[in-house]
Amino acid sequence: MLTYLYKIRVIMAHTKFIFVTGGVTSSLGKGIISASLAKLLQSRGFKVTIQKFDPYINIDPGTLNPYEHGECYVTEDGAETDLDLGHYERFSNEPTSQANNITTGRIYLSVIERERKGEYLGSTVQVIPHITDEIKKSVKELAKRNKYDFVITEIGGTVGDIESLPYIEAVRQMKWEMGKDVLVIHLTLVPYLAAAGELKTKPTQHSVKMLLEQGVQPDIIVARTEHPLNSHLRDKIARFCNVAPSSVIESIDAESIYDVPILMHQEKLDTEVLKLVNVPVENDLDISDWENFLEKLKHPKEEIEIALVGKYVELKDAYKSIFESFVHAGASNEAKVSIRLVHSELIEKEGTEELLKDVDGILVAPGFGERGIEGKISAVRYARENKIPFLGICLGMQCAVIEYARNVLNLKDAHSTEFNDKTKFPVIDIMENQKKISSLGGTMRLGAYPCKVKPETIAFDTYGIMDISERHRHRFEFNDKYLAQFEGAGMMATGINPIENLVEIVEVKDHPWFMGVQFHPEYKSTVAKPHPIFVNFVKAALKRKKGM
Ligand code: GLN
Repeated sequence: MLTYLYKIRVIMAHTKFIFVTGGVTSSLGKGIISASLAKLLQSRGFKVTIQKFDPYINIDPGTLNPYEHGECYVTEDGAETDLDLGHYERFSNEPTSQANNITTGRIYLSVIERERKGEYLGSTVQVIPHITDEIKKSVKELAKRNKYDFVITEIGGTVGDIESLPYIEAVRQMKWEMGKDVLVIHLTLVPYLAAAGELKTKPTQHSVKMLLEQGVQPDIIVARTEHPLNSHLRDKIARFCNVAPSSVIESIDAESIYDVPILMHQEKLDTEVLKLVNVPVENDLDISDWENFLEKLKHPKEEIEIALVGKYVELKDAYKSIFESFVHAGASNEAKVSIRLVHSELIEKEGTEELLKDVDGILVAPGFGERGIEGKISAVRYARENKIPFLGICLGMQCAVIEYARNVLNLKDAHSTEFNDKTKFPVIDIMENQKKISSLGGTMRLGAYPCKVKPETIAFDTYGIMDISERHRHRFEFNDKYLAQFEGAGMMATGINPIENLVEIVEVKDHPWFMGVQFHPEYKSTVAKPHPIFVNFVKAALKRKKGM
């Protein structure tokens, strides 16, 4: 194996660039296809990274509400990014960074800043070449960062959108400049017309035609379909789209997103890519870790139900990383984790008993704003008093602190100053260095910070080490002034940021498993490394179910 790796790294003298475009409709799963291809190439010993281009004007999705954009995913370096980066990390187990998510806003901002500094030496600044050069620069700079063998760049939106034109033009130029080192995969839909009883290739032909009008010939067509493509259809797509029949890859609806790497391997997507970029296919891939995970995922021995309490429950994408973390933790415990989505506002109307009865664990979700906050606080109380395993993430942790203050410390109307700045007991307060910040977007406490875990705690039992690092996204924090009072009454700070002395983890004594974390463990859970907090939370829920 090692000799193979050595051989390959010599052959891969420079980076190959793969672009993934989408046609016909959005939501075809470009992110999953990109992440699956990355996983397959990685399993062959290559160094791969994935990048997402988002054609909107926002600098990043940090200011977009979850209805617009689902979850905002946070990287180690504190970038607020598209949720597809979460898939990239979960599949590849490789951290991403700000350089992995570029938006039109960010591209324009840097070009305009440069113009203001006079760096264009008096020339007229235009989409071509200045914007397209900036796009190409961000692809090439990412490649250099870690001497990647492959950079897979997913272009958000659908071919034909006005917004994505500069990106497609940048791809056209790179293909023209770099020939075989650039490959374009076009993901498209082959719909099934029930009335005709047929799969239809026309939308695919049209979207490839649109790409051709913009000067780009795709090399590989990945066809999303509900039914298998027969050889006649594959040939037809190949002929009309000007690709080899072996370059037509079927992507059939899968039971789980985690099946996709295996399905893509069966369709030979990885070997087709290598062939087209002139990299010899010498070694076979080792994907046994992934297969082991799938085996456990598909054959759970037990089942538990966890309530996820939040205000965006009608919108699954808002809690994407939390859902996926439970998939990883479930597989690692050989258990199926069913999620009961509970709207925190509904708790305010119907009560906890009605909505949370019989669950094996309760998670109170992260969030911003006052809506549904009292429902979240009631959910914490229900978990604490009924000794149900509890995990509070970010705002969920803050709710746990507020609940304890009100109902155990008897600090009437204790609150977070985010929701009541006149409260007599501001047990959660704005962080000192956030007070002067007025602009939104990239201004929170973001990204990875170290935390010291205290021995003989649930946290230590969970991590097995004292020095951890987790990702953050918040403005408010546990108010230190109340720490002694809380600890005296049984809510302990069991994880502390050693530099700024901030409370990062709280636990409640005399409870089987109760943890509130100011950080977001869900951003770091991957297939290869399920997050220990989720793994242990699921374990605690399984114990409760068995009455242990
Ligand atoms: N709104 C809270 C804060 O800013 C919690 C944020 C979150 O849950 N990500 O501190």
